Amino acid sequence: MSRTVYVNGDFLPEADAKISVFDRGFLFADAVYEVSAVIGGKLVDNAAHLARLDRSLKELGMASPGTGEEITALQRELIAQNDLDEGLVYLQVTRGAADRDFGYPKDAAPSLVMFTQARTVTDNPTAETGISVVTVPEIRWQRRDIKTVGLLAACMAKETAKAAGAGDAWFVEDGYVTEGSSNNAFIVKTDGTLVTRQLSTEILHGITRKAVIALCEREGITLEERPFTPEEAYEAAEAFSTSASAFVMPVVKIDDRILSNGAPGPVAAKLRTLYVEMARELAE
Ligand code: PMP
Repeated sequence: MSRTVYVNGDFLPEADAKISVFDRGFLFADAVYEVSAVIGGKLVDNAAHLARLDRSLKELGMASPGTGEEITALQRELIAQNDLDEGLVYLQVTRGAADRDFGYPKDAAPSLVMFTQARTVTDNPTAETGISVVTVPEIRWQRRDIKTVGLLAACMAKETAKAAGAGDAWFVEDGYVTEGSSNNAFIVKTDGTLVTRQLSTEILHGITRKAVIALCEREGITLEERPFTPEEAYEAAEAFSTSASAFVMPVVKIDDRILSNGAPGPVAAKLRTLYVEMARELAE
């Protein structure tokens, strides 16, 4: 079945959805993106995703393709046209098409592309078993707080994980975990305290990370925002990652070390349940 895709003002069958070969997203990865989950045909925490989109655009001096209300209306129309009940809506913004030149073009109009992916996000069977992760050297650029489409290092990390029989990779820089290849990394210490790296330019400011931290505050779960080493993670009671597409994903093995007897730990499982409950309730 063909999806309907949004491209610069038009809703088109995916085979007809085209972008210029001179688009700077293609030539320079001069583009940013966002992903929002959809539950029951409604968007999860979408205002926060659009606020981060705005921030990414501002950091790169890129024009916005529309107001938050305009973009939300397009997302909703795309969900309706694809009859999407559960899954993801991707939103890609590029600086637009212009003759190839490193300098930013003065008059290019930003391109806006949106597409959906139907998938089970709430009852994801992988969350029942948890995933293993391998640590890999951090080779990404130094502005990981900007959500750019420059994702090749993340693709390489995922391929390394796959080759090792693992579900994901966690990047390590100067001896400390930065984040997962497409998610934020958490560990749970044996005393029940959560640890996740503090916000900086070194990691993406995850929308799910923020929501999970708010849940911890509500539930009286103590959290330390600081870097942690792979060695500390090996000794942790539990680990998990957070993202808009996988919500709270239990991690049951890091490199060769099995955590929480190889099954999702109680804290990760509880936070996942609470997050899904909240997402269902607040989706709009
Ligand atoms: N870090 C990276 C590198 C990511 O790609 C993502 C997801 N796109 C995240 C963290 C998680 O962010 P969010 O919770 O906003 O999806």
